[in-house]
Amino acid sequence: MSEYRHDPVNGHWVILADNRSDRPDEYIETGWERISEACPFCEGNEGETPPEIARYAPRRGRTWLARVVPNKYPAVAPGARPPIGRPPPLEALEGYGVHEVVIESPRHLVSWSEMPIEGVRLTCRAYQERLAHLRRRGDLVYGVVFKNVGPAAGASIEHVHGQVLATALLPPPIAVRLAHWREGYHEAGRTVVSRWLDDERRDGARVVAETRHFAAVCPFASRVPYEVRIAPLEPMPYYEAIPAGWLGELASLLRDVVRRIERASARAAYNLIIHTAPFDAGPHDHFHWHIEILPRLTRAAGFEWGTGCFINPLLPETAASRLRAPHRTKP
Ligand SMILES: [Zn+2]
Repeated sequence: MSEYRHDPVNGHWVILADNRSDRPDEYIETGWERISEACPFCEGNEGETPPEIARYAPRRGRTWLARVVPNKYPAVAPGARPPIGRPPPLEALEGYGVHEVVIESPRHLVSWSEMPIEGVRLTCRAYQERLAHLRRRGDLVYGVVFKNVGPAAGASIEHVHGQVLATALLPPPIAVRLAHWREGYHEAGRTVVSRWLDDERRDGARVVAETRHFAAVCPFASRVPYEVRIAPLEPMPYYEAIPAGWLGELASLLRDVVRRIERASARAAYNLIIHTAPFDAGPHDHFHWHIEILPRLTRAAGFEWGTGCFINPLLPETAASRLRAPHRTKP
C-alpha cells in the first residue's frame, strides 16, 4: 500500500510506502558508540577552539554553560565585503558569510535529551542572539540554525553543539518557498504554516504534543520516519523574537520531543533546523518561524536525489502515536 502526499508548507511530495519497512535494509544502523578521546568542546579545553565570540554563564558554579566560537573549518567566511543593495553576481560574493558553532554544554554530552532544561533554554537563547546579531549587520541575506546529531546526520564532533550559518545569498529553494508563502498569505490572509497547523490540530492524528504557545506535529507528508515540525500556534516571523518568558516552554518541548524520538528509534541520529525569516527589510508577515527535526533512519538514494521526492516507510500517524505513548520523564 503506498500513497502520494503533498506538504503544503514546503511544497514537497512524498511517497508513503509502509510495505517497504519490511525490507531487510530499509532502516540503517545509526546508533553510535561514544568516543573517549580528547574533545575540543569539553570544559577545560577552551584554548583548542578559535577565540570565543560569546559565552553564557550560570549565576554560580560553572564558568560557562554555552559558548559561541567561529567554525574552525567554515563553509563560508567573511572575505571582501560584497556590494550591498542589488543582488550581486555569485562570483562577486566569493563565499562571503558567517559560520559559527554553539557549544551547548560544558560536559561531554551528545544530545539535548541528556541536558538540564536550563542548558537547552540558554542554547535556544544563544541562537536567538546570534541570529539577531547577524540580521543587524546588514551585509548578510539569510541565516539558518542547524544541528547534526550522530555520524549518520553528518556530525563530525560528538559533543553536543549546533551551528549558525549566514550567507550573502538567498538559497534558491528557499526563495521558491518564500514566494509560495507570500502568495498563500495574500490569498488567505494567514500564513501557510498557520493553515497547516489548523488542519493538523483539527485532525489530531499526527499531533505529538501541544503546549500553551507551541505544537509539535509529525507532518501529513513526513519525508522520513519520526519527522517532527514544531511551530508557534500564533504566527511570528522571527525566531529571535520569541518572548523570553516562552523560552523555557520551548526548551522543555524540544527536549521532550527529542527524548521521545530517541526512545522510539533506538537513539536515532537526527538533523534539527530552525527556520526564521530572511534578513532583508521585509515585510515578513507571510513567514511563520518553525523547527524541523529529521531523524536519519533511512537513506536518501537515487530516487530522492533525482526527484526531491522522499520515500517514507513509516506512516506519520503511526510515528505520532508511538511518540505520544507515555514515558517516564527523567528530571
Ligand atoms: Zn566534549
